[in-house]
Amino acid sequence: MYWDERIECMDREGIEQVQLENLQATLNRVYKNVRHYRKVFREVDFMPEDLQSIEDIRKLPFITRRDLSRNYPYEMFAVPLREVVRLHTASFNFDDPVVIGFTKNDIHNWGELMARNLTAAGVGKDDVVQIALTFGIITGPFGVQVGAEKIGASVIPISSGRLYQQVKIMRDFRTTTLVSTPTVALGLARTMAEMDVDANSLALKCGIFGSEPWSEDTRDDLETALHVTATDTYGLTEIFGPGVAWECPEKGGLHIAEDHFIPEIIDPDTLEPLPPGSEGELVLTTIAKEAFPLIRFRTGDLTRIDYSPCACGRTHCRISRIFKRSDEVVVVKGTTIAPEQVGQAIARVSGGQPNFQLVITREADVDQLLVMVEISDINFFDEMKKQRRFVERLHRDISETLGWEVAVRLVEPGTFDPQKRVRDERDFI
Ligand SMILES: [Zn+2]
Repeated sequence: MYWDERIECMDREGIEQVQLENLQATLNRVYKNVRHYRKVFREVDFMPEDLQSIEDIRKLPFITRRDLSRNYPYEMFAVPLREVVRLHTASFNFDDPVVIGFTKNDIHNWGELMARNLTAAGVGKDDVVQIALTFGIITGPFGVQVGAEKIGASVIPISSGRLYQQVKIMRDFRTTTLVSTPTVALGLARTMAEMDVDANSLALKCGIFGSEPWSEDTRDDLETALHVTATDTYGLTEIFGPGVAWECPEKGGLHIAEDHFIPEIIDPDTLEPLPPGSEGELVLTTIAKEAFPLIRFRTGDLTRIDYSPCACGRTHCRISRIFKRSDEVVVVKGTTIAPEQVGQAIARVSGGQPNFQLVITREADVDQLLVMVEISDINFFDEMKKQRRFVERLHRDISETLGWEVAVRLVEPGTFDPQKRVRDERDFI
């Protein structure tokens, strides 16, 4: 089943034609309306009309999250604010967050992409879609809602948490589709067992999971416990949230919507493009976004691209499932955190910058974050009481910065490698 068969099954020549036309239009627009792009295009002596082929995009510089943050709040917008109908922020704490705007048409397109995603996952107009993603913190649930309503499915925007109530609703409302992070889905499966609710008594058939990395083992666990077909979805807050790439029933990679995005794979160290099939950092150019277009955005996600035909009939290329990143940014409990965020909180409390390391583990399917801070002159206290108070302040400040509880421990120098600020001990593969 396809949502938009003409586009989803278009031949390569057709896709490239759409890409070239939309890329040309996007470059013209950003050159005219966004000072940052005008400046960097001039620096490499590239005018939008110089574009002859899609490969010419490689002549343009990359854009990073830091660039987006520097242009806080609206400097990257390619339309006047009066045309923006929605604003989201991404939680990266450089000096300022990244602000993402959407026009009416952007929201329409997001809905179309999510309708394709949901249809590929098996959702139709008779389905009941329970969205157990946190509304507000991440953009994902808004897109799922727009897409599901476009299909004509019934939406339950319940957000995450309150698992007992979720199971009751899942049973009583005859939910057929669960959209959540894999962590929440596993929590629901455990709650069902506690409540003695058998998956056979539910109407569930589809599970769409994303927002954090999850393994094939987790897929097996979820499919067994919830009696669903579990598919992965991929997106970025800076672009849409979900609706960038998604799995079809073949589960052999995630189809990128190539009529909206041009993907590239680069070596994250040399920044050179890599040959097809190689693993590297995913770079995306948006070619249909109006308010917040991104030219060669470095996602930080490591994957490979497969252009071979897929048995589902969709012709758009596939990226492999994403488990790793090229930078130190990590996804914990469905939200993205950069070590800088924690470093800034530590600096605020310490008045200096001691070495620290984030240790991420997964216990009973729930992500845990421990922040280890090295004892140094900055934070050495003779009195236990003072030391305890210091750790309490660190705990409070970091927990507040991230929006959830973390553990903090002061450790002797040499306990960890200070060059390595993130130690991710979760097992995804
Ligand atoms: Zn497919």
